[in-house]
Amino acid sequence: MMNPAQQLKQHVLSLHAQATTLFDDLRAGSVDATHRGVTRDTYGRGEQFGHQLVEQYALKLGLEIKHDHMRNTYMVWPGLDREAPAIVIGSHLDSVLGGGNYDGAAGVMAGLIAVQAMQQAGLKLNCDVVVMGIRAEESIWFQVSYVGSRGALGTLPASALQLRRIDTGLTLEQHLREAGGDPDAVATGVAYLNKTNVKAFLELHIEQAPSLALTGYALAIGTGVPGHFRFPRVKITGEYGHVGLGRRFRHDAALAAADLSVAFDALWQQWESSGRLMACTFGEFHTNPARHGMTIVPGEFQFSLDVRAYDDADVAELEQSLLTIVAQIEKKRGVNFDFGVRASAKVAKADATITQQLRDCATHLGMDACDLPSPASHDSAAFCAAGVPFGFIFIRNPNGSHHPDEEMSIDDFLQGTAVMAQWLATQADKL
Ligand SMILES: [Zn+2]
Repeated sequence: MMNPAQQLKQHVLSLHAQATTLFDDLRAGSVDATHRGVTRDTYGRGEQFGHQLVEQYALKLGLEIKHDHMRNTYMVWPGLDREAPAIVIGSHLDSVLGGGNYDGAAGVMAGLIAVQAMQQAGLKLNCDVVVMGIRAEESIWFQVSYVGSRGALGTLPASALQLRRIDTGLTLEQHLREAGGDPDAVATGVAYLNKTNVKAFLELHIEQAPSLALTGYALAIGTGVPGHFRFPRVKITGEYGHVGLGRRFRHDAALAAADLSVAFDALWQQWESSGRLMACTFGEFHTNPARHGMTIVPGEFQFSLDVRAYDDADVAELEQSLLTIVAQIEKKRGVNFDFGVRASAKVAKADATITQQLRDCATHLGMDACDLPSPASHDSAAFCAAGVPFGFIFIRNPNGSHHPDEEMSIDDFLQGTAVMAQWLATQADKL
């Protein structure tokens, strides 16, 4: 006879067709013929479709539907004690332009399937289990991330309301109002969710790099989300010159940027070989198109920089290294770096207890799961910053993310969802 954990796992695995249909319907409703892949634009038609789809599914499961001032969707499976702090399971339903179907959405579907399996197994928790469809996680639309989750947690600065969506030109306030939300609640810092009414947050997400696929693990337990510092627009000023200018007379802004990128990449290699985790990305990197030319020594250069690591002390050390390297380049090339606006986020470590429980659940179900520090940023970090403990499950994806080739097998998804359901069941044991 099967033990209760194996029975619950079987209930999850039996929902293969339902999970497949959910993802297929989501893709069909947000497919983007122009950019390939899907587009679920933040506070736009695509994202809205995702919210309606999961809401309809949740209604069939008998869940209560609620929305907050950000128009996040809450699908509530009532517990025995409605006053007890809830367990929230979720992720975001928006995507980048022409993105993949699973980034974000898998975390919402996992919550629904886990709840459905628990219902079938006749289990019930003391507290509410809330499946949350989160708005506006992708920073491409408003140039800031975690808009929906930070808004729900009361930690989104009021100034964010005036940010404009890059394609529509409308402000977040306008988009939010149009979607039926309440920007005034953002301005006054209303916390619909907080560390008192949420006991734990659980997020399942596809991996956005191929490391699991390469090592053969179907899933991993996430140990944390990196902290970072970012400079969206760094300007280097040198001196424009004629192509015939001798090397010693030049103040080449492009070579100064090249020096920095090569130096930082070398630093990354050093860190990697000594087992320290970091990443740096020069996402924008260009001369001034109004003035550059084949026969002109570049006098201006602009780039963006994102540097991330898994320990706040490491992030600080990297920023110090940046300053040291830049000072050397400025001296060597006679140029000036203006870093402009700086943004940063603290490292968000997954809760040690929940992480161990998730590992134990995977082992108990006979699944191999490794630990994985997240390479990317996730809504979990916003919950962590608000004092809510979180746990994280990764599903392998061989093709990377934020493009149409992103991939996830439903079998792998159900394995991760089974771990999530088993973790919920262990919470039920503690009644
Ligand atoms: Zn995501």
